[in-house]
Amino acid sequence: MTFAAVDVIAHKRDRKALSDDEIAWVIDAYTRGAVADEQMSALLMAILLNGMDRREIASWTAAMIASGERMSFAGLSRGTTDKHSTGGVGDKITLPLAPLVAACGLAVPQLSGRGLGHTGGTLDKLESIPGWRAALSNDEMVAQLESVGAVICAAGSGLAPADRKLYALRDVTGTVESVPLIASSIMSKKIAEGTAALVLDVKVGTGAFMKSLDDARELARTMVDLGQDAGVTTVALLTDMSTPLGLTAGNALEVAESVEVLAGGGPPDVVELTLALAREMLDAGGKPDADPEQALRDGAAMDTWRAMIRAQGGDPDAPLATARETHTVRVPSDGPSGGVLTRLDAMAVGVAAWRLGAGRARKEDPVQAGAGVVLHAKPGDQVAAGQPLFTLHTDTPERFDAALQALDGGFDIVDGGSVLFGDLVIDRIA
Ligand code: URA
Repeated sequence: MTFAAVDVIAHKRDRKALSDDEIAWVIDAYTRGAVADEQMSALLMAILLNGMDRREIASWTAAMIASGERMSFAGLSRGTTDKHSTGGVGDKITLPLAPLVAACGLAVPQLSGRGLGHTGGTLDKLESIPGWRAALSNDEMVAQLESVGAVICAAGSGLAPADRKLYALRDVTGTVESVPLIASSIMSKKIAEGTAALVLDVKVGTGAFMKSLDDARELARTMVDLGQDAGVTTVALLTDMSTPLGLTAGNALEVAESVEVLAGGGPPDVVELTLALAREMLDAGGKPDADPEQALRDGAAMDTWRAMIRAQGGDPDAPLATARETHTVRVPSDGPSGGVLTRLDAMAVGVAAWRLGAGRARKEDPVQAGAGVVLHAKPGDQVAAGQPLFTLHTDTPERFDAALQALDGGFDIVDGGSVLFGDLVIDRIA
């Protein structure tokens, strides 16, 4: 069926629901280049402003899936389960999580992305391991899932190409922050990837896409419904992203912290979230009795990590890159003699790490493997005047000033202060 793009745009402008045929046509025509960027931009803005109902979102997602290939892991000897995070600061959880769940008996096909803006990308982090390569063919991916159980690699260009094109357009037209568009973008890729089970880590707070709990809940509900309707067992956890996860933000720095977790140590919040997500992935994937805590303790997860890195050409024993220059920020000694760190803003730390070279401003920019921020204190910690608060790492010291500006106002130290801790896992939506 053929439509005029201007009619489809006018329908959504006038708050009408689009038909399945209109949606299938417009996504296909845009992917083929028959609908122009300016027309699709107008439609995306109309969707952002006027929304879509559940049927329209399902139809939009199906059309994006149909724009490319669908992978299948049906021939594997173990079931598949995957995790997707909506992105946060210091969110390195995929790194310990994928080998941990594989060590417990399921296969984890993680198609990941690179960072854009203040949130880091899993592929950028792993690329700080000498030799490791992100690009695998579908056959290599399936073979590694069979032999090792876990793969973290780049999504091929054949997977949901409509989303690739639409996401680039949304990025430059102010149309990213729409629940129907975010949900369909994420779920089209996850459903096309072919995982049988999926756990969504929907971040809430200053360092997340979704700043309010209500918006995060709506996004989680929409994605869970899309997954369930497509036959993927899908669960979402809403998790706190008001302060960074763990003590590091930056590529090699986060790999080192992930290896600490796999060795049975690591910061308590990273361990807690890794185990919470592992339990959900194992449960959704049909292995509710597996014990991920045991797999961390007995080294099974570490063995799988090493095998996973080696299978993709990486050397798990090679020293990780370190930045050429560091600068330590201390608790001021000209004010009160210290106090409690009552707030440490995730966005401030994420932007600082990004400006130090850990992230990129444009898709084609390189990242620095060693750049980032190491935290010496977390909210609730007592800190004394002169004590180190953060160490900034970069190869290019002219970036320190911009990073320091990002951190300015990003934390509070209060004499005699206290912190009301909420739960790291705020809610579960199934
Ligand atoms: N991640 C995606 O893949 N798509 C979005 O729209 C937002 C985050």
